Amino acid sequence: MRGNLYIVSAPSGSGKTTLLQHLLRNFKELKFSVSYTTRQARGHEQNGVDYYFTDRTAFQSMADRGEFLEWAQFNGNLYGTGRDFVEDHLDSGRDVILDIDVQGARQVKSKVNDATSIFILPPSFAELSRRLKARMLESDDVVKRRLEIAKEEIVFYRDYDYIIINDILESSILLLESIVRSGTAVPRR
Ligand code: 5GP
Repeated sequence: MRGNLYIVSAPSGSGKTTLLQHLLRNFKELKFSVSYTTRQARGHEQNGVDYYFTDRTAFQSMADRGEFLEWAQFNGNLYGTGRDFVEDHLDSGRDVILDIDVQGARQVKSKVNDATSIFILPPSFAELSRRLKARMLESDDVVKRRLEIAKEEIVFYRDYDYIIINDILESSILLLESIVRSGTAVPRR
């Protein structure tokens, strides 16, 4: 049997990374697809763990060779999902989870009919702003731009199969786990 494909999208600062870390710790059989990106590594990010950090030329060559299941430009940088990793794992019956933006989610949904998509929302815009500033990993300009992008992205929550409002972390973890545990791939509308 083919594995299930899960897509998680969220504006940055919505707590998605923490939620995914909990999920992956508790679901050992769930494989996280490490994306390729042209953006610079942040904080303690590691190549091959958080992302495969690459340059634009190498990224573009991969895109030209059709090596991405999807790719998109986000905030001036390119991000892409390795096609072989996802297909090989699904074919061998393993579940895969993607952390990708709304543009990527739309591309994947159009290619993988039974992918299950989950959108994580912050409880409010003010809280999102507070979390991004508290992270202190980026300049004020980048944070401002991320907030603008978040406003644009949030509109797309309706396209997703599930929405989690990440107010209380413990509740959100349980919700996310129950979606994955149910293993129900929601048919495409
Ligand atoms: P960040 O720079 O904060 O790590 O990620 C910025 C955005 O890019 C997030 O919305 C994240 O989900 C998205 N992203 C990460 N990897 C991929 C990918 O492979 N494809 C697409 N389309 N978006 C990605």
